[in-house]
Amino acid sequence: MKIALDEDYLRSIMFGLQDGLVSTTGVVVGISAGVSDRAIIILASFVAISVEASSMAAGEYSSEKAVHQMDRKGRHRDSLIMGALLMFFSYLGAGLIPISPFLIFPPDVARVISIIIALIGLFVIGYFKGKVVGHKAMRSAVEMLIIGGLATAIGLIVGTFLKV
Ligand SMILES: [Zn+2]
Repeated sequence: MKIALDEDYLRSIMFGLQDGLVSTTGVVVGISAGVSDRAIIILASFVAISVEASSMAAGEYSSEKAVHQMDRKGRHRDSLIMGALLMFFSYLGAGLIPISPFLIFPPDVARVISIIIALIGLFVIGYFKGKVVGHKAMRSAVEMLIIGGLATAIGLIVGTFLKV
């Protein structure tokens, strides 16, 4: 089954979901390595994803506008505002996933759960992407897990080395 979706909207959603998961996992794990107060970890991470989601939405709007201005053949029928909103909510929604374990568990446990659910999230996003574009869903899922997982790993390694 192939679901119809404007390709620019698909890119906004995928970019937002993937980036929201990967970078927020890095942020929340990084902050929790240096700070033990749960309220501060949650607050700082939430501020970070709100700022990042807004910035990504603005970037989506501006970059897509440039693409539309270059599009002389009128192939782009997507709305710039819609693309920016999809980016914002995809990023924010995905970003809440790695933060949520900190609402329930102590930081040491939450950190591990956060990484695991972020990886599961990447797998699920890849799977649905495969369904949407009409490719092998399982293959897309594994690919997304590897790409996103590598980015997450690099973030975590840098965070570990910079730990104070
Ligand atoms: Zn467009």
